[in-house]
Amino acid sequence: MQVVFDHVSDEAKNIATFYFKPETPVKYTAGQYIELALPHADADKRGQKRWFTLSSSPTDPLLSITTKFAADGGSTFKKTLRQLQPGNKVSMLGPMGDFVLPKLVQTPLVFVAGGIGITPFHSMLSWLAASNEDRPITMLYGVSSEDEIIFQETLDKAHQHVTIVVANPSPAWGGERGRITAELIMGIGQPSEDSLVYVSGPEPMTESLSKDLVRSGLNKQQLVVDAFPNYTIAY
Ligand SMILES: Cc1cc2nc3c(=O)[nH]c(=O)nc-3n(C[C@H](O)[C@H](O)[C@H](O)COP(=O)(O)OP(=O)(O)OC[C@H]3O[C@@H](n4cnc5c(N)ncnc54)[C@H](O)[C@@H]3O)c2cc1C
Repeated sequence: MQVVFDHVSDEAKNIATFYFKPETPVKYTAGQYIELALPHADADKRGQKRWFTLSSSPTDPLLSITTKFAADGGSTFKKTLRQLQPGNKVSMLGPMGDFVLPKLVQTPLVFVAGGIGITPFHSMLSWLAASNEDRPITMLYGVSSEDEIIFQETLDKAHQHVTIVVANPSPAWGGERGRITAELIMGIGQPSEDSLVYVSGPEPMTESLSKDLVRSGLNKQQLVVDAFPNYTIAY
């Protein structure tokens, strides 16, 4: 599908949300992703296409994606994304994917976001709020530092139990410190036999947490994972 770039909004110093207007309304489910193509000359080996979760709610008029930029601007793809001008037409494939809320509304959910892995949860929580639907959710959100916390307003409005865990906090930080571990998830999330644990974030984080959660006694069937490749650190 063709979409028109509308505007960009900075969420943090190295994280931004890009908004696109579809030519015709797009149907999707909160948590799904698209493939964005940005043709550009001298592309690096990572190429001209990337997958991004739609951070918008299906009830929003615009589609949005939210991404993190490396200190040097990152890949040629990310540099091209940064240079988009309002009115530019780009193409997207999808939406697709099954990292979506379960059909049964009473299923207890534990959401685990590592850094930029918050995007599908932002879409789901925004959609739940817009639809006046209540679900039993406990959320853990890990960031490397406080200035990388994004979507605070959506988290506040969701009225869910959210624990933010900061890996390298300032002395003033009064919340949880360190990295999200399986122990912390089992302790705070307290998944029961019918809970589902959704884990989203950079691949190094989702891989190690998934293994540790299963080692800690979580049934593999209870895990729903969204892994973001190419990010080299956990978050
Ligand atoms: C289903 C799915 C959903 C996703 N959703 C999101 C999302 O919502 N938001 C999101 O940000 N990403 C998402 N991703 C990941 C996304 O597709 C990219 O892989 C990711 O953003 C990294 O982008 P990049 O490769 O352009 O690297 P960058 O973001 O530019 O950099 C990432 C790291 O790689 C290094 N690096 C950059 N370029 C190179 C290079 N050429 N060679 C070696 N190292 C390099 C950087 O220095 C940095 O450390 C998703 C992926 C999948 C599969």
